[in-house]
Amino acid sequence: TVGAIGYGSYEIYNKRHPLEQKPFDPKKRTVVVLGSGWGAVSFLKSINTDDYNVMVVSPRNYFLFTPLLPSCTVGTIELRSIMEPIRFITQHKTRNVKFYESECTDIDPESKTISITDVSDIKGSVSNTTIPYDYLVMAIGADNQTFGMAGVREYACFLKEVWDAQKIRTRLMDCVESAGFAKQAPEEVDRLLHMVVVGGGPTGVEYAAELHDFLKDDLEVWYPELADKFKITLVEALPNVLPMFSSQLIQYTESTFKQNKIEVLTKTMVKEVADKEIKVMDANKNLVSIPYGLLVWATGNCPRPLTRKLMARVKEAQTSPRGILVDDYMRVAGAPDIYAIGDCTFSKYAPTAQVATQQGLYLASVFENLARMEDGQNKKITPFEYSHQGSLAYIGSDKAIADLPFLNGNVSVGGVATYVFWRSVYISNMFSFRNRFLVVGDWMKSKVFGRDVSR
Ligand code: FAD
Ligand code: NAD
Repeated sequence: TVGAIGYGSYEIYNKRHPLEQKPFDPKKRTVVVLGSGWGAVSFLKSINTDDYNVMVVSPRNYFLFTPLLPSCTVGTIELRSIMEPIRFITQHKTRNVKFYESECTDIDPESKTISITDVSDIKGSVSNTTIPYDYLVMAIGADNQTFGMAGVREYACFLKEVWDAQKIRTRLMDCVESAGFAKQAPEEVDRLLHMVVVGGGPTGVEYAAELHDFLKDDLEVWYPELADKFKITLVEALPNVLPMFSSQLIQYTESTFKQNKIEVLTKTMVKEVADKEIKVMDANKNLVSIPYGLLVWATGNCPRPLTRKLMARVKEAQTSPRGILVDDYMRVAGAPDIYAIGDCTFSKYAPTAQVATQQGLYLASVFENLARMEDGQNKKITPFEYSHQGSLAYIGSDKAIADLPFLNGNVSVGGVATYVFWRSVYISNMFSFRNRFLVVGDWMKSKVFGRDVSR
């Protein structure tokens, strides 16, 4: 292989060439994994392929480190720095792992088969097929919650995937350039430069924070004639932002946003979305119009169509509309041999990367124990137990907040030192050394040269 004849770091990177892997063994059980996000990757990293044949089906042939996605919308970090090909993990397994870049469109728990569709723009002669499984691991994440509101999908930008971050960036720069267009009316300039974020959960807050930094550090410098016209508004239906953080950190975030001139409209619910304005029910129950240039929609999760389809097939056991119900061993209620982890499930934990990772790791250990029990060893499968490691969020101006479990209590900290901690935690949790290297490089690059303002 190229790695074997020695190409420096490339050699380290490609340590095991796929050709050295064992082939599929028809005598072994086949585990099909749906997804290439946090849950799936954590499972894949740990599953012992000496015991099973493993196949992965996902419309994305890469893993995405979502915690740094908000930084990509403004160019602090480049998207490719937080992506890693799924084959980077599969090449390190002892047995060849098959990967199909496709979407699973249906699951038949009776015949134990799944239907998959090629999602690439260029297709071969076969683009739909079915695959049998012995065990299925569903880790397909969740969809963006829109509450079925007309206009959201058409006019707003979500923030979940690579293409969402790209779309936000393009729209933002379009707004800025259009605002500077010859003879633009003053009220139209104000509208175009009004960036509205809906949802005061961590996604909305972190996006507003990154946007603030971009406006202050870069756009105001590059576009001095527009500097005093940029405006950010965060709309939240509840009485405060970040309900999962301590009240002290909520107050700290809200006062930081106030200093940074990010307007926070709490107890305000979006009711209608049109192409240039949203209508909100404000705290006094008045219907108010808010014109916007860029609208970012971050109102949480809802089940994907495939999740709903599976739940409908076993509807007697699936009684929650919010996600798949699993038992303490991650088995899907009503569908033996199907396991579900991460955001596609409905559980008592928040839908976070932290939960999905721990569930993936746990499930790989369940499969290991099942294999050892089949070998005749005395093994016991214990229920999944979640261990909360704390919550972190970036709030802008080089400040972050952290709620950390400490000696049976909780420590709430916020500020610049927490930001350094935030960075070090994310860097140490990155998928690969390559990702770490690229992200640190991006941080240095944006400090030295500023963020890139090209469209
Ligand atoms: P995902 O990671 O979303 O992966 C789902 C996978 O399934 C994807 O590969 C997708 O392409 C694939 N898929 C979708 N449909 C199908 C189909 N039909 N067939 C096959 N495959 C399919 N959590 C934290 O703990 N800390 C953070 O700091 C944090 N920051 C975040 C920042 C942002 C901007 C966002 C959006 C989320 C953040 N989260 C964070 C939440 C975290 O990203 C999710 O909880 C986590 O991604 C859930 O993992 P998952 O494996 O269930 O789903
Ligand atoms: P979320 O569910 O945490 O927050 C969505 C917010 O939108 C809620 O506060 C809700 O009240 C508000 N909302 C809903 N409908 C509204 C409407 N019509 N008008 C105004 N406000 C409305 O969603 P999220 O922020 O996308 O996060 C999703 C998951 O990902 C969560 O579990 C979160 O913890 C996790 N996450 C974690 C981090 C982090 O740890 N730093 C970052 C991003 C996401």
